[in-house]
Amino acid sequence: MKVFNRISRDFSWAEMIHSRTAEDRGIENEPGEKEVVAMEELVKRLLQPLRLAYGKPIRISSGYRCPELNKLVGGAPSSQHVKGEAADCVAEDRAEVLLGVLLAAELPFDRAILYPKRNFLHLSLRAKRNRKQILFR
Ligand SMILES: [Zn+2]
Repeated sequence: MKVFNRISRDFSWAEMIHSRTAEDRGIENEPGEKEVVAMEELVKRLLQPLRLAYGKPIRISSGYRCPELNKLVGGAPSSQHVKGEAADCVAEDRAEVLLGVLLAAELPFDRAILYPKRNFLHLSLRAKRNRKQILFR
């Protein structure tokens, strides 16, 4: 990983793009210009402020997914991961705790999806008209 490869203090391009599945299958998972802009917004307006409010590391288990990768991992065709608008977040505490921090900090978000059995929080942010929806899957 390159030192300049940072989006914000605590988040890097590498972790937003990295995918074990893509690596194994030889998929490049290269975001376009629009997706890069969306990811930057997601990190700067939502993930980094959440990280600061939480006070502990947040790991991205899945960020950007090119259409091919998204299909492989069983993502919905309209998945916000494909647009660079979503990231799955894993923390030391339960994902419910992270959701609590998100709400207490009153951060902007489009969708927060809690997957209690898999213990991660899917978070997305759009440029406009964020719905602030909370779903449980
Ligand atoms: Zn997700």
